[in-house]
Amino acid sequence: MHDMLEFLAPLYDVAKIRYLMGVGEPGNLKFAIEHGIDMFDCVLPTRNGRHGSVWISGDKRVSLKNGHFSADKGPIDKNCDCYTCQQGYSRAFLRHLFKVGDPLAGKLCSIHNLRYLQSICESYR
Ligand SMILES: [Zn+2]
Repeated sequence: MHDMLEFLAPLYDVAKIRYLMGVGEPGNLKFAIEHGIDMFDCVLPTRNGRHGSVWISGDKRVSLKNGHFSADKGPIDKNCDCYTCQQGYSRAFLRHLFKVGDPLAGKLCSIHNLRYLQSICESYR
């Protein structure tokens, strides 16, 4: 994919919007933006969120289902301005919601992941 984006970048019509489907990993998103892509569509932030996987600063991904977070009272990412992090939902509470099968957990993690990717896009404006 990276080779193809590098090949295509100088060929784009600058008057038209460029769209890339199925790219949602932060590293790939940044690479695509740097090679002329304007718009994305991907299930990754919500699918990962529904399964307890969230991105944190540094483009690292952690699973909140991991027992390591059972007593972690911090937000998903202290640097994040999303609803989930700002409202004080802790990693431990989110892990608990996943363990009892409450769908709220996936929604709150999806909100975080979507905001994480949106912040990346904003940083390129
Ligand atoms: Zn957040």
